[in-house]
Amino acid sequence: MKDIRNIVILTGAGVSAESGIDTFRGGGGLWEQHRVEDVATPEAFARDPDLVLRFYDMRREAIQTKAPNAAHLALASLDREWPGELLIVTQNVDDLHERAGAQIGLNETRVLHMHGEHLNAWCMACDERSRWTGSLIDRPACPECGEAALRPDIVWFGEMPYRMDEIFEALERADLFVSIGTSGAVYPAAGFVRNAREFGAQTLELNLEPSQGTHWFDEARHGAATELVAAWVDEVLDR
Ligand code: NAD
Repeated sequence: MKDIRNIVILTGAGVSAESGIDTFRGGGGLWEQHRVEDVATPEAFARDPDLVLRFYDMRREAIQTKAPNAAHLALASLDREWPGELLIVTQNVDDLHERAGAQIGLNETRVLHMHGEHLNAWCMACDERSRWTGSLIDRPACPECGEAALRPDIVWFGEMPYRMDEIFEALERADLFVSIGTSGAVYPAAGFVRNAREFGAQTLELNLEPSQGTHWFDEARHGAATELVAAWVDEVLDR
């Protein structure tokens, strides 16, 4: 690990699985008993806003009862101790990376939520985002403009992920790209390994099973995130 200075880590639903948050494709292609098209697309929201708002209200409530696991905590300790550049790009919309950071005394984590955050609401009238821990089903007023036009701040299928420029700049500078707990099925995140390789980074996969893109990685280790990630962080920090 001697030549590694800049690290980009991509995390997915698998990193939060051992905290009791369902992954996407865990339940036979259904997500919490719903087809993805019925709850995670702009068309679904236009067709049946109550169904979509209720679905996200339940998820928002549920994640607040979950706690970070050993994988989140190991990544937070890497964030605190890594002397070079580090960016944790997460596809997750939970806040467990941040809570793990807070648990070990980090004021700020180097985490970028490319698919949005459950604990934000986005106003379609004024475009502002507000911290949101309650429900949206009763159409509360936006704290910024007063309009009842809030939606979950989640990037749905067919929408553009956030902060792609920043992610590509980090990938361009990365010496090491690590993908953790992601199936490699959702683009553009699934393509980051190829981008990182083209930019000259070493690549490592840590996942329960081989992902769809596993053959693109220089090295792949398979097992539970709580074990693999903690061991890898010890290795990279040389402790
Ligand atoms: P995914 O559900 O498609 O894949 C999860 C991957 O994690 C699988 O390859 C699985 O084998 C692996 N996995 C499961 N348990 C694991 C464990 N204990 N340790 C290590 N790996 C484990 O998830 P994805 O690739 O992140 O894509 C799904 C999309 O759904 C994302 O865009 C995300 O926004 C959203 N999502 C987010 C959450 C969350 O915020 N926690 C949960 C579900 C879905």
